[in-house]
Amino acid sequence: AGRVVIVGAGTAGVQLADSLRAGGHDGPIVLIGDEPALPYQRPPLSKEYLTGPDGAIAPPLRGESFYTGNDIELRRGEAVTEIDTSRRHAVLDGGERVAYDHLVLATGARNRTLDLPGSGLAGVTSLRTLADSAHLRRRLTTAGRVVVLGAGFVGLEFTAAARLRGVEAVVFETAARPMARVASPALSEFIARVHTEMGTELRHGQSVVEITGTAGAVAAVRTGRGELLETDLVLVCVGAAPADELARRAGITVENGIRVDDRFRTSAPGIWAIGDCASFPDSRSGRRLRLESVQNASAQARVLARVMLGDDVRYSDVPWFWSNQGSIRLQIAGVRFDGDRALSLGDPAGGSFSVLSFREDRLVAVESVNRPRDHVSARRALAKRLSLRPEEVVAGFDLGDLVG
Ligand code: FAD
Repeated sequence: AGRVVIVGAGTAGVQLADSLRAGGHDGPIVLIGDEPALPYQRPPLSKEYLTGPDGAIAPPLRGESFYTGNDIELRRGEAVTEIDTSRRHAVLDGGERVAYDHLVLATGARNRTLDLPGSGLAGVTSLRTLADSAHLRRRLTTAGRVVVLGAGFVGLEFTAAARLRGVEAVVFETAARPMARVASPALSEFIARVHTEMGTELRHGQSVVEITGTAGAVAAVRTGRGELLETDLVLVCVGAAPADELARRAGITVENGIRVDDRFRTSAPGIWAIGDCASFPDSRSGRRLRLESVQNASAQARVLARVMLGDDVRYSDVPWFWSNQGSIRLQIAGVRFDGDRALSLGDPAGGSFSVLSFREDRLVAVESVNRPRDHVSARRALAKRLSLRPEEVVAGFDLGDLVG
């Protein structure tokens, strides 16, 4: 397949380099990442890494010897600023041009920002990189109270870590319930209860309109109701947007992410996109999806490697996701949309249950809390596109029986 240049050395980029080599690609592989660290796993950054001992490290995706041993040219701390599609060059921030036969955009996503007065004060932070998490971990040693804007996965994981470290936490969420964008109402209700039991104050349907400071550092937030709430640290966790600027500038079609087909081809010849930055056609829902998960990034990378090596494959993996928040071990298989019908199995009060979501009488997603067996069965059932109608979910129903 010639010379492959991968932009973005995260989950998707590293997995692609690995799968290409393992699959027999013998041409050059150049992996370019703008972060200085050896490529690392992001999930611990909002979980264990925040509560671990000082000096704890975020686990690297692969050891250093993986890159040298597999003849993968890893260029860290360098950004691609331009793609010259006519000459097939990636242009680096230092001006260097790197030639490619195939260019893969695995640039991930960037945190959305809030345009609030006071956003520039010291102590107003966001969480995506190792540097962000290291900073937050330090701040948690001295903070008395943190204010988190946004009750999505990352915000709630951070909040649980803050509570474990004995820091007061107040979460503002403009929606009526936590994780409203992705979770069923039953799951949101459970999540809200557990966080409240952990001592977190959840303020739904409420917003912050201003951040105020003293001597350049955050001191308080002003709520939409006019209340002034003192705080040492504000974490803005209001979701992420695809890192698609390079594609836009190169005239590549973008549609809530870099638009690809079921083989990850973009609108430009020789250019592909995978992971958080890509929007792809979902064979199950018939809709276009852009997902932010480790499974999505690594599974897409594996399939793209096969496509580039000449296999006739198309992407149709079942999405799955996990989140740990205090005692909650949440696993989600499939993708649910607003309006899907939800049925619960198990014991929400006891903290072990699954919510099955149906669309037009078809099982489309299963959210499992502390029920790992259900999650495994759900992934198998969704992969096989087994039929299950809501009326079959009666007392004693077991997802495991469905897949045998
Ligand atoms: P990334 O891993 O983000 O890698 C993209 C890389 O490209 C970045 O290093 C970026 O700096 C770099 N880059 C961007 N533009 C350029 C450029 N022009 N030149 C060079 N480099 C560039 N998912 C789960 O499934 N479970 C979890 O529990 C979970 N927890 C998470 C916790 C946090 C705090 C965060 C931020 C994410 C979490 N995720 C989780 C999501 C998961 O980490 C991402 O979906 C996954 O990393 C996406 O992989 P990617 O390769 O597409 O992007």
